[in-house]
Amino acid sequence: MPEFFHEGDLVGVLTAQPLDRILDYKAPEGGCMLGAFVEVPLGPRKVLGVVWGSGKGDFDYAKVRSVIGVLDVAPMRAEMHDFLTRAAEYTLTPMSAMLRLATRAPGLGDAPSMRKVFRLGTGTPDRITDARTKVLDVLRDYGGLSFTLGELAEMAGVTSSVIKGLVKYGAVSEEDAPRDTPYPALDPDYGGKELTADQADGAEVLKRAVASGTYGTTLLKGVTGSGKTEVYLEAVAECLRQGRQALVLLPEIALTSEFITRVEARFGFNPAEWHSGVTMTERRRCWRMVGQGAAGLVVGARSALFLPYRDLGLIVVDEEHDTSYKQEDGVLYNARDMTVLRASINNAQVVLASATPSLESWANVEAGKYTKLELTSRFGPAVMPKMGAIDMRVEDLPGGRWVSPTLQAAIRARLEKGEQSLLFLNRRGYAPVTICRACGHQIACDHCDARMVEHRFLKRLMCHQCGETKPIPTVCPNCEAEDRLSPVGPGVERMAEEAIALFPDARIAVLSSDHFGSARALKEHIAAITRGDADIIIGTQLVAKGHNFPLLTLVGVIDADLGLQGSDLRAAERTFQLMRQVAGRAGRAEAPGEALMQTFQPEHPVIRAILGGDEEAFWTAEAAERKAAGVPPYGRMAGIVLSSPNVQEVFDLGAEMARNDAPLRRIGAQVFGPAPAPIARIRGRHRVRLLVKADKGAPLQAALTAWVAQFKLPSTLRLAIDIDPQSFY
Ligand code: ADP
Ligand code: ZN
Repeated sequence: MPEFFHEGDLVGVLTAQPLDRILDYKAPEGGCMLGAFVEVPLGPRKVLGVVWGSGKGDFDYAKVRSVIGVLDVAPMRAEMHDFLTRAAEYTLTPMSAMLRLATRAPGLGDAPSMRKVFRLGTGTPDRITDARTKVLDVLRDYGGLSFTLGELAEMAGVTSSVIKGLVKYGAVSEEDAPRDTPYPALDPDYGGKELTADQADGAEVLKRAVASGTYGTTLLKGVTGSGKTEVYLEAVAECLRQGRQALVLLPEIALTSEFITRVEARFGFNPAEWHSGVTMTERRRCWRMVGQGAAGLVVGARSALFLPYRDLGLIVVDEEHDTSYKQEDGVLYNARDMTVLRASINNAQVVLASATPSLESWANVEAGKYTKLELTSRFGPAVMPKMGAIDMRVEDLPGGRWVSPTLQAAIRARLEKGEQSLLFLNRRGYAPVTICRACGHQIACDHCDARMVEHRFLKRLMCHQCGETKPIPTVCPNCEAEDRLSPVGPGVERMAEEAIALFPDARIAVLSSDHFGSARALKEHIAAITRGDADIIIGTQLVAKGHNFPLLTLVGVIDADLGLQGSDLRAAERTFQLMRQVAGRAGRAEAPGEALMQTFQPEHPVIRAILGGDEEAFWTAEAAERKAAGVPPYGRMAGIVLSSPNVQEVFDLGAEMARNDAPLRRIGAQVFGPAPAPIARIRGRHRVRLLVKADKGAPLQAALTAWVAQFKLPSTLRLAIDIDPQSFY
């Protein structure tokens, strides 16, 4: 493959348009590199593309159009080309969709624009005021660095007119600089903590792995608060010393600001950020600077894996078991698995950090594919909480109440000592069901096969599938009885009501994603709780993820059985992980913690495993069950969802697919279904699913491709293939 194409040479260009073909163009004046990002004509439009290779030349040369221009960004590297190709093959995703994922920054085609920046000048102002001194002090402190007017004014705590006054005398100089500026270089030796012996051993292993410049994956397991973050930050430091780039993936944007603060304390400056809360200009800057190697560390959500790193040496996946790493719409991929793929192509190291690793990673350690590092104790005086069950069968509790007398007493004891309690219920809103007491009708979404959830805080009913809301009716839409609609079951908002009634003098805070308009509002709320501005916290799984509340000593799980219902093959694993994570919120400082789980089945093996804390025993049993059933991680699975506004169409095609399964049988795979998907209608589209099961070593993707290619799909029908499905909905 040539590395450079001269003007007029035929090049094959991959675009992000859903064509699924590489198109031929002529290289432009001045030629272009292999991998160059280009603009090409497509019909009447100009679209973004990448020079993917030589053209095929199966078209009249005279009619082939020319590339319009080469963009001023680094060409796509061979490593990225391979990664996108192999990720597409694995997830059965069209290349155009992969390229869309890899170019999700605005204005990549724009010429680099300029902006005004300000730095220390050589002139002397006519007079010195307090405000002027502040500005000059800031600039001297950051010797040589330049800032925008807004940044400088904020840092000095002055108005912009003060700065402009200094510019007049040359004491501050004003210059034009490219808008997309490099991120400040992080200092690997800036602020390291003194590590415990356990932590230092772990850090040493990771540092050596990073320094080796080869691929490897390490599972960093340690109870919450054991210092996993401190340890993997040492691996990041080593990666920076090697002059390579590092990426830390976090499962939840709400966790980034706390993490950024730690990065600044460790490395002196903030890293680059990439997630949905980042502004468009900042995204563009991040994408470009990552490509130039002018961003040493990126902290982001799963899609940060598709940035054009110049030389990625380390990827950390924090809370690697978290389900949010699986993208459930558009391109269906698991960022944890794609991380391992990308690292293996680029001779990079992977660190998977978790207190409760996924069974997949556990099995990869068993199989010798991953190395395991373990931190066994919490840092400092903190110890793991005491775990206990509350048997709800013997608690004396009236209907419509959910906090048992035993749990009430435990909360009261905390209130007396000035400590915090957390009531955990993984259900947003006020009540999951609204039922008519006259006719039994349950209010459902008009577009989905789902019940509407009452959100009293928003004063609406909401569908958690499609997000549709409607006012809370006073009249039953079915029988027209008035004032007979009533909520059934608890959500966090209803728990708050109960807590207020039980503990009228306590300060109560609800932590659920619905209650915050912005990530900033949520962050401030969490900071206030951390300082002690609440006695009782009521939260959904948002609180299970990594926040650190030092005054919290009691966790009460309202319904420990909730996740065990349903047919999901990971129900036990998920419940185990979630309960351990939530319990881990208690007792993170000096005062010891306690976690109490309300359950109707205290003898259930999963509940017993959570209480007993014998993790190895739990995983060994879980692994044996999955092995026997031939399901992941010991077998392979793919989910196929057919959806259409026309219900007949989806069942017809589903049945036809099940009948014509020769390509699957050839590799020993089995098809199950078609069956209505657990949520049989979403946004007005009827959904049918098929499930394919195969042996671990079977060439599943090739067989699926051959199988699906046999059928002609009606234009209204959508077929989605989910390799290694994580959720069954
Ligand atoms: P994890 O990531 O395992 O939950 P963290 O790295 O967040 O644990 O550590 C928990 C808390 O203990 C943090 O506030 C962290 O700064 C602190 N900590 C951990 N190890 C050390 C250490 N060696 N020196 C000082 N503080 C530490
Ligand atoms: Zn809906």
